[in-house]
Formats: sequence, structure tokens, C-alpha cells
Amino acid sequence: MSLDQSIFPEARRQIEICNACRYCEGFCAVFPAMTRQTAFADGDLTQLANLCHNCRGCYYACQYTEPHEFALNIPAALAEVRAESWERLARPQALARLFQRHGVAMAALLVLALAGFFWALAAFEPATGTGFYAYLAHGAMVAIFAPAFVLPLVLIALSLRAYWHEVGAGGLRLRRVLQAFDKAARMKNLSGGHGEGCNFEQGDRFTNRRRWLHQAVMYGFLLCFASTISGTVMHYALNWPAPYPLLSLPKLLGIPGGLMMLAGTAGLARLKLRADPALGAARVWGGEMAFILLLGAVALTGMALYAATGTALVAPLLAAHLATVLVLFVLMPFSKMVHGFYRMAALMAEAGKPAPAGGGE
Ligand code: SF4
Ligand code: SF4
Repeated sequence: MSLDQSIFPEARRQIEICNACRYCEGFCAVFPAMTRQTAFADGDLTQLANLCHNCRGCYYACQYTEPHEFALNIPAALAEVRAESWERLARPQALARLFQRHGVAMAALLVLALAGFFWALAAFEPATGTGFYAYLAHGAMVAIFAPAFVLPLVLIALSLRAYWHEVGAGGLRLRRVLQAFDKAARMKNLSGGHGEGCNFEQGDRFTNRRRWLHQAVMYGFLLCFASTISGTVMHYALNWPAPYPLLSLPKLLGIPGGLMMLAGTAGLARLKLRADPALGAARVWGGEMAFILLLGAVALTGMALYAATGTALVAPLLAAHLATVLVLFVLMPFSKMVHGFYRMAALMAEAGKPAPAGGGE
């Protein structure tokens, strides 16, 4: 059942008007999917909401926005359903509700507390170890970070299973997975139906900036993740522990990845400040901004740590970096981070549905 009883009836009212109008049919994946039916259950609206990426093109094109009596605001209506679905389907739900109410404070306090914890831990210098492991033993890092990474992924898998069931997605086939990955890799839906991008930040001016910034963050994050994996392989399989030189896989992947994340998060934060909050889920604006800043802090502390190698700043920067990474992982099922997983699930669910009347994507 919906956490806010007014969200679904309002989204349904607006989508039914769109389904009669259909002017925005070519804008994004939402409208072709909408045309497949004439009645919308809560699960149908949840699926449409997770296909929407809040580009706002349909708002600026619409002749039924306020002051028209229909008062349409599809980007906001779908953003509310989307945020509600992430909260309602999250496991454990109580923690998700707590995060929705106090997410910014929780993230900030956790970063501070964990930075203090890692700083204190570094005082017990390991007997052996070089580089970062001179401050925190490799075994201790693995013992802390492995469960902090795996458990949130298990919780996300549970919530995605509930989503899959709610939207009636059917069987999962390899073809659907490949189609979804293809669209996500190109961020096709962020290019707008016409390929000129969103008008997220400036009314009627279309731009692909939001798409490029999203790609910088996503590919930057994946490069950093690949850097960590390569370091782990070198540590265990090649018996080559950190620190690694500049011309090594962890550095060649990690440095561009960190720079891309920094540029992407700075740009996305700026866009969010310029955009109209009334065209999104206003109640989660702070949490979404905090998530962007947390991702930026992970990249900034990582790059600063690299630059400070061999100086006295390594210990405090390592504590700050480990704290931001740990908070990012631990809060993954409840923060905006989860939107990437839901977007993939929505694209996979959509790939299995019959083609909409009149073609579509
Ligand atoms: S957003 Fe407005 S213009 Fe677009 S399909 Fe809906 S009612 Fe029509
Ligand atoms: S805000 Fe953009 S992505 Fe969402 S329904 Fe409107 S046109 Fe589609």
C-alpha cells in the first residue's frame, strides 16, 4: 500500500489525461509505454515513474499546466511515485522511512563518526604494511568493507524482486537484460525523444549537459570500482600489495575515474540548484543533493589522498575517504544511489512488454 494515499490517485489522474492527449508520445519511454493500456493500476504507475528520468520536456511542452484547470505536472507526479516506490519497496522499510525523514543528517553524522573511527583506528598502527596499510591493516579493511558492500546489495536485490513482482514484469530473459544494458550504457532516454537532451535546468532550452554529466559520474564510478578490483587482484593473485605506481592498472583506472566523478557531481549539483524544485519530488530534494555531494566527497577525498602521498595528511585524508566510501555503500539501499538499480529493472521490464500501439522506441 502507498505510504502517501494521495500520490497514486493524482498520478493516475494526470496520466489518464496524457493518454487521451498523447502529444508527448515521442519524448521518452514513458509515453509509448503508457499507450499500451487505458487503465492504470498502482504497479503500472510505479513502472512508468521508474522509466521517467525527470527531463521535464513534457512539462514545458504541455498546454494543460497551471493556470489551466487540469494543472498537469507530470515530472513532479512521477517523481513522487518514484520516490515513494523506492521507500515502500526498500528492505528493511523502517530504515528506509527513517532515512527519508532524516537522510541528510544521518549521512553527515555517519561520515563524521566513521571518519573519527578510522582516525582512531589508524593510531593502532599495524606491525606490518606499507602505503595505506601502514595506517589500517589490509585484513581490517576487508573485514569492514566486504560486508558493508555485499549486505546492501542483498537488500537492494530483495527490493528489486518486490518491484519486479509489483509491476508484473514476467520472466527475466537474457535479451531483456542486454537491451536494458544497451540503453543504460548510452543513457538513451536522457537524450530526449529528439536527441537534443533535457530542458531540466533552463525551461525551454534543450541541452545534453545532464546526460553527459550523468555519464561522467556513472563511468567515473565504474572506473574507480574497476581500479579497486584490479588492486584486489594484484594483491591476492599477483602478491603485489599497494601502493601502486602511476603506470599501474589501479592508478590508470582510478585517476581518470575520480576526475570524471568530480566533474560530473559538481555539474549535477549546479544543475540541481538551477532547476525548479516544484517539477520534482520536492520533499526528497535535500536527500538527493546530499547524495550528489557524498559521491563528490568520495571522489575529492580519493584524489586528495593520492596527491598527499608521503605527507602527514595521508592519515586524516584516508580516514575521511574511507568514511565517505563506507557511508555511500551502507546507505545504498535507501539513498538516491538506488535509482540506477530501479532504472535498470524498469528498462528490463519494459523490454519484455509488447510493442506499444503505433510503434514507439
Ligand atoms: S504532458 Fe500535456 S501535452 Fe504532454 S501528453 Fe500529457 S497532456 Fe499532452
Ligand atoms: S519528465 Fe521527461 S522523462 Fe519524465 S515523462 Fe516527462 S518527458 Fe518523459
